[in-house]
Amino acid sequence: MLGTCKIVTFPVGAQPCPECSRRNAALHLAQASKCPQASSASHHKYALTLALFFILSLSSAFALPPASPTKSLQIYFVDVEGGQATLFVTPSGQSLLIDTGWPDNNNRDAARIVAAAHDAGIDKIDFVLITHYHDDHVGGAPQLAASIPIGAFIDHGENRETTDSITQNRWVAYKTLLGSGKFRHIIAKPGDVLPIQGIHAEVVSSDGALIQKPLRGAGRANPACANSIQPPADNTENLRSLGVRITFGKLNILDLGDLTADKEYELMCPLNKIGKVDIYIASHHGFSQSGSAVFVHAIAPRVAIVDNGATKGGSPLALKIIKSSPNLQALWQLHFSEEAGPADNTASELIANPEGPDAAHYLKLTANADTTFTIFNSRTNRSKHYPP
Ligand SMILES: [Zn+2]
Repeated sequence: MLGTCKIVTFPVGAQPCPECSRRNAALHLAQASKCPQASSASHHKYALTLALFFILSLSSAFALPPASPTKSLQIYFVDVEGGQATLFVTPSGQSLLIDTGWPDNNNRDAARIVAAAHDAGIDKIDFVLITHYHDDHVGGAPQLAASIPIGAFIDHGENRETTDSITQNRWVAYKTLLGSGKFRHIIAKPGDVLPIQGIHAEVVSSDGALIQKPLRGAGRANPACANSIQPPADNTENLRSLGVRITFGKLNILDLGDLTADKEYELMCPLNKIGKVDIYIASHHGFSQSGSAVFVHAIAPRVAIVDNGATKGGSPLALKIIKSSPNLQALWQLHFSEEAGPADNTASELIANPEGPDAAHYLKLTANADTTFTIFNSRTNRSKHYPP
């Protein structure tokens, strides 16, 4: 669980332990229990040496990832049980959170997001992007704002699904939050570049509108269009999703929120306006209303990460489409999908939360400008490295 490390004060002076990271949390818990707070200086040195010895000796056995270089982009896929909360922290420490998870649940999702922020070494979130006003995306905003300083909110503008009472209530709560005057507010439109330092975050979709020209490097004809037709229009907030392509060096990451297949078709036919991406944050938690083949196979991600819950998202069809994508090296999931079953879920080591009681395990992607990246599974304490 994220933040386990935070309740431990590793007894090395007053400095926070630099290795007090997610992957070593269990090790630190064990070490800390042996090291009383009021230790002598010599004991501190002994404890540090012992800890280093354990870390070094165990690192090869557990294939622990190297410590994150400061020039990396860190991305946390926080487990908010089938909602979205994805935290980007740039090398300069600027941060962007895409969505805030669910409301209620005794502050569960806000606490998990704050734990991720602290794990990344930040105590403020500069930008919170709300993709749309469904419960599992904007619902957690008031609790989060009460839990950690936030600089700005970015969204697509008015709620368009006023007939749905839950959505309308969440929108009103969010508007009340904005009305406090404590936050900068940005309404983003397709083609806008978000004012975040260290990454290039370009808006692809917003409030049902899409980019009209291909992004730089994109614009090839999509041959799959010949055998597909545009699905019927979605009539919820989903198609309003504020979607972004984030570029870090040469690495491209795509997050379109819950954008539905009708809009995917417009983005992909006849020209692929997004181009290929390295990392696809699977749209709509892997529900089959999104993630169509004409879209996924054209963006051809190297890796896809699905923020599904045990019983939300992770549809068999959507997972099959991702797995059959031409360049795919790995499909990662936040949860085992009960609907997909053993046949269609990804391999166990690529799932943060398998069947059984939820333990809020997260995934963390550490990306480099040269397009190499590593994905860490907090459950297994293992990482997988992806070459350029
Ligand atoms: Zn959703």
